Amino acid sequence: MARYRGPVCRLCRREGMKLFLKGERCYKEKCAIERRNVPPGQHGMGRRRKVQAYGQQLREKQKLRRVYGLLEGQFRRTFAEASRRRGVTGENLLQLLNLRLDNVVYELGFATSRNQARQLVRHGHIQVNGRKVDIPSFHVKPGMEISVKEKSRKNARIQESMEFARGRGIPAWLELDEDTFTGKVLELPTREDVRIPIQEQLIVELYSR
Ligand code: SF4
Repeated sequence: MARYRGPVCRLCRREGMKLFLKGERCYKEKCAIERRNVPPGQHGMGRRRKVQAYGQQLREKQKLRRVYGLLEGQFRRTFAEASRRRGVTGENLLQLLNLRLDNVVYELGFATSRNQARQLVRHGHIQVNGRKVDIPSFHVKPGMEISVKEKSRKNARIQESMEFARGRGIPAWLELDEDTFTGKVLELPTREDVRIPIQEQLIVELYSR
């Protein structure tokens, strides 16, 4: 599966905010946003111009797409699914993104970033209801159990991630049993569970043009 392979801190600088793409580094002084929060490129310093409505909608979409590490086509398909469902499209979109297996693995603390979580899933370290699932876009449902494969529980990176995630906290719609490396989806995530500052209505407006 294709994915963005360029420098990720550049993406945060482009959006002017932390997108938390690099794990532990994002919480340290080394973070590029902490050190130099200017848009990337030679003329970055002078590029903070007044943004038109379309520009704002586009930036909001890019921000959300980059946080969850989706390519344009994948994001568009997720949006299409969100608009087919009952309810508020913007909230459906956030819910669908949150229910992706790679996001749940990240939120449970098995990985320090969504990128790392995606790798864990692809490499077969993650099980859903006791069976291996290696598709990062797999959508989990309430009641499902997400666990680290028994053989992988000694993996130092997973253990370090869980240690690190204690400070970050687990969202209320998930539950974690650290002893068995098993998490459970308690309920569907709501708008209040989204921890990124995002104006999803702007994304809906963008795709309604
Ligand atoms: Fe973004 Fe993390 Fe890089 Fe900071 S360290 S700029 S939050 S990816």
